[in-house]
Amino acid sequence: MVMLQNGKTILRCIIQKKDFLCGIKRPLHHFRFPKDSTYINGKWISAKDGSIFPVSNPADGETLAFVPDCSTVDLDEAINGAHDAFKEWKNTTAKERSYILRKMFNLHMENVGDLAHIITAEVGKPLQESVSEINYGASFLEWFSEEVRRIYGDIVPSPFKNKQMFFIRQPVGVAGIITPWNFPNAMITRKVGAALAAGCTCIIKPAEDTPLSALAFADIADKAGVPPGVINVVTSSRKNTPSIGKKLCESHKVATISFTGSTEVGKMLLMNSASTVKKVSLELGGNAPFIVFNSANVKQAVSGLMASKFRNSGQTCVCTNRILVQDKIHDSFVSELSKAMKNQLIVGNGFDTGVTLGPLINQHAVEKVEGHVKNAIENGANLVIGGKRHSRGGTYFEPTLLTQVTKDMLPFCEETFGPVAAIMKFSTEEEAIEIANSSKSGLAGYFYSEEVAQIVRVAKAIEVGMVGVNEGIISTSEAAFGGIKESGIGREGSRYGIDEYVEMKYICLGGLN
Ligand code: NAP
Repeated sequence: MVMLQNGKTILRCIIQKKDFLCGIKRPLHHFRFPKDSTYINGKWISAKDGSIFPVSNPADGETLAFVPDCSTVDLDEAINGAHDAFKEWKNTTAKERSYILRKMFNLHMENVGDLAHIITAEVGKPLQESVSEINYGASFLEWFSEEVRRIYGDIVPSPFKNKQMFFIRQPVGVAGIITPWNFPNAMITRKVGAALAAGCTCIIKPAEDTPLSALAFADIADKAGVPPGVINVVTSSRKNTPSIGKKLCESHKVATISFTGSTEVGKMLLMNSASTVKKVSLELGGNAPFIVFNSANVKQAVSGLMASKFRNSGQTCVCTNRILVQDKIHDSFVSELSKAMKNQLIVGNGFDTGVTLGPLINQHAVEKVEGHVKNAIENGANLVIGGKRHSRGGTYFEPTLLTQVTKDMLPFCEETFGPVAAIMKFSTEEEAIEIANSSKSGLAGYFYSEEVAQIVRVAKAIEVGMVGVNEGIISTSEAAFGGIKESGIGREGSRYGIDEYVEMKYICLGGLN
């Protein structure tokens, strides 16, 4: 088997092959979906009006492929397909669904290389990170293939001699699943794994920037024996996305919306879902604090920060955003961090060996990061490393370190979503907690301390859904992933993930005299 060396070879496979979107050669030889097609109701089809849009590689701007720009007409077909398929799928046994999910997991594992190449091509993240994403994404299919057999109900002691009481958990119906570009595989598997386990059918609307990973996922589902209509992918450009989103929210045939993305869009989907009183789960933006107390092990804290700050070039929702370092260790922390950034962050094309920091997803992202750095410097922050667009051009940005940042500067007020480490010095624990909790977001938070009492106090006081204590990487399929405040509603992964896709039904069996 020939392993291709870089993204350009993939591009040529995709573009030159006329009949298939992804070519027959390695690395994508397992994925053969017809040109300009998406997967609806068990078939590879084009948009009804024939519209397509390009998908490009952020590393060099080159066009990777074209995919259908679906409209609400195509969405209708997906909704009807998913609605019809639900009638059968909801009656499958837990064991049958477990088998299919397990098969999907196995197919992910057998195709890690191909799937990772697709991610690096459309997101730009280093290949090793894409491999980690596939392992992580697949772990949700494995997890829910096991959890599906534990969707228990309750038999409740009845207060009446002639009545028996039961609670059962039933699938809600069709799930509208809207996912972002930063984890184009894992954000799908984390939702779809739970939805399928519960007995729901799905309509996936991937981000405009990353539809290829979603199509590869559909191909895997098809090969794993997922029946037609159970999984549908509606690809669309940003032009058509708002109408697709609105229709998903307002359709009476769609029972739940599960969204991962920005808080702004999440709020809109929540409002649009009110007309049908839909169940909604939202995984939204974060603004994670990372607090380093005087007692912390500085080396460990720097290593945790490097992992939580710079993964995917700083474009993850649980990425550290606001770094708070206590006065006594501030200078040594900054010095260790600068060394680590200079030694460990190698900017380049994600396909190139040794690269640890890829490009940002698009120009809009670069402008945002640039704006945050400019705002901080203009307001008195000290630039230690980087600070501007990278000399490679395109959407590359220099790894940047800022100190003397204050809480009113943009890198502290908003999620930067880029490779910028912004540090503020603080003196007391109360001050750090007050600043950490001053955000409207509450997704992840991290802190480093070696004092037991402080660890317990701060872990309880910090207003987030997930806390890493002396740890910068916290996400796994066993964990309950989700936020509080404006970071979202509901949990994904863990034994609670299935709750988003089931309704509890109370059955009262009377006449038992
Ligand atoms: P975004 O603009 O909200 O996009 C996310 C998804 O929503 C995309 O599929 C997008 O499609 C779609 N979308 C946009 N407008 C829509 C509308 N009016 N109706 C329906 N769907 C719509 O988010 P982003 O900026 O790409 O992603 C980054 C954000 O996601 C960050 O804030 C990050 O923190 C958050 N995020 C959160 C989590 C979590 O688990 N909490 C995980 C990852 C990312 P188009 O691409 O076609 O516009």
